[in-house]
Amino acid sequence: MSRLDSFIRRLTAQRDILNAIVELVNGTEGPVLEFGLGNGRTYDHLREHFPDRRIIAFDRDVRSYSSSTPPAENMVTGDIRESGQAFLGIGAALAHADIGTGHDDIDAVTLTWLPQLMVGVLAKNGIAVSGLPLDRPELEPLELPAGVKEGRYYLYRRK
Ligand code: SAM
Repeated sequence: MSRLDSFIRRLTAQRDILNAIVELVNGTEGPVLEFGLGNGRTYDHLREHFPDRRIIAFDRDVRSYSSSTPPAENMVTGDIRESGQAFLGIGAALAHADIGTGHDDIDAVTLTWLPQLMVGVLAKNGIAVSGLPLDRPELEPLELPAGVKEGRYYLYRRK
């Protein structure tokens, strides 16, 4: 499979999962956390699906399209490994992390802290969606929407 095909499949999986979890997330109170704002595509998608939620986005710095940039009070800059710590216990209904790089060595470092952070920010029954696997006993893997191949994108519920 070419890298283009692989990229398209990953984004399709991301979108299909974000579309599929709306009802689940609506069953839990709390904000939505977007780890890895990037240019704001998934932030914009989340905003469409959760118009009444506070959506807090994180990135090293703001490089999103102006129309997909959160208000200053909902934008957290810096390394998520550190900046995320202030949000432990916030009781998020959904945390989405799109911070994988495709470089195994870099992603291996991210995996030393991201799963624990996701557990710590989620409310009970909160939903975790991630481009990297989150191997934690507190996170129950959920069935992926039809058509999303195992291992392409990840979906969990906080126990
Ligand atoms: N989902 C986004 C979208 O649809 O536009 C794309 C996210 S992009 C793939 C990943 C983003 O995560 C990059 O903007 C990168 O700067 C950010 N990122 C990755 N690791 C990070 C870290 N440890 N701290 C802060 N930002 C990080």
